[in-house]
Amino acid sequence: MSGKEMSELLAFCTARLEWLLETTTTLVGLESPTPDKAAVDRCGREAADRLEALGAAVEVLTSRTTGDHLRAVFGSGDGQIMLLGHIDTVWPVGQLERMPLRREGDRLYGPGVFDMKAGVAIGMLAAAAVTRRDAALGRRVVMLLTADEERGSGASRALVEAEARRSAAVCVLEPALPGGALKTGRKGAGEFELSARGVPAHAGLEPERGASAISEIAAQIAAVEALADPARGVTVNVGVVEGGSRPNVVAEHARAVVDVRAEALADARRVAAAVRRLQPRDKRVALTVRGDFGRPPLERNADVLRLYGMARDVARELGRELGEGLAGGGSDGNFTAALGVPTLDGLGAVGDGAHALHEHVDASQLPWRAALVAGLLLRIDAHYR
Ligand SMILES: [Zn+2]
Repeated sequence: MSGKEMSELLAFCTARLEWLLETTTTLVGLESPTPDKAAVDRCGREAADRLEALGAAVEVLTSRTTGDHLRAVFGSGDGQIMLLGHIDTVWPVGQLERMPLRREGDRLYGPGVFDMKAGVAIGMLAAAAVTRRDAALGRRVVMLLTADEERGSGASRALVEAEARRSAAVCVLEPALPGGALKTGRKGAGEFELSARGVPAHAGLEPERGASAISEIAAQIAAVEALADPARGVTVNVGVVEGGSRPNVVAEHARAVVDVRAEALADARRVAAAVRRLQPRDKRVALTVRGDFGRPPLERNADVLRLYGMARDVARELGRELGEGLAGGGSDGNFTAALGVPTLDGLGAVGDGAHALHEHVDASQLPWRAALVAGLLLRIDAHYR
């Protein structure tokens, strides 16, 4: 990729700043909370219209339990590179009244603008830029926009994984880290519930006949917390404990809910297996363990670093320095990375306040982020032969 090619891409995207802003604000105006299918589908139809106007072939992947997902194909090359995003947000319909769409200086505020409707606009323009008639991309670009990412992607995970398996690499349009840095690692997150059923007894008359579910859960909490290894990025939080009925009854029931995070796949698997193997200390107590890692870790491995290196080179040609960092939460990129498909996350908008009242993006940075994604698509296409 020549410097001339890169400056042409930047010029293409800069000339479409108004399109980026108008697309972003239109999508933000169509509020799309994950559980509200009708609302998500309204936003999805708008996104589909815009994708078609840019020349993509759009397929609506209907879902009865969530909003419909969209699969947009740009170009007609052999093989494909995947752009991954979601159109659902964490905000309920009506949030616009509390967080009105507004421009203050360079900042564009609104619910879902940063996570991740501006990222969707960036991805659309980047895909259009590299699949124009005279563009050099040999592969198709497939943009998958899912409708349930903010609730764990239960309905879309299989789609995301199937599309990723067909792709040379996956570019995830989630928000950037502060300052615009990319996400070269994401912790995996698991949730486990430990339930104990003991033997109730009168605490005064015959406590020896009882087996306390609370004592059992207390012992299990210590066992689970011992699995933490902060130096390796493994953390354990027992966030919920419930149990017992009355002070004078040996408790029959108790439960604990545990959040586990890990940076490495092997650690996630090891900790999950250890939690599932837990045995009751008191044989009279029945212990049940449920749960798993909802999203596996996105490891900062050689594939990720190769993609990051390409993105950093593209950014330099655009006159920008591009950092990297670890994100504590997961995205759908965690699924694709765990399949062994090279994945780079945080390629969306620069801004702040995901899931927070001050959610915003930096308006003037939208064009170069679109050029960054476009340039990265060209690099990936040239590299993976
Ligand atoms: Zn997101």
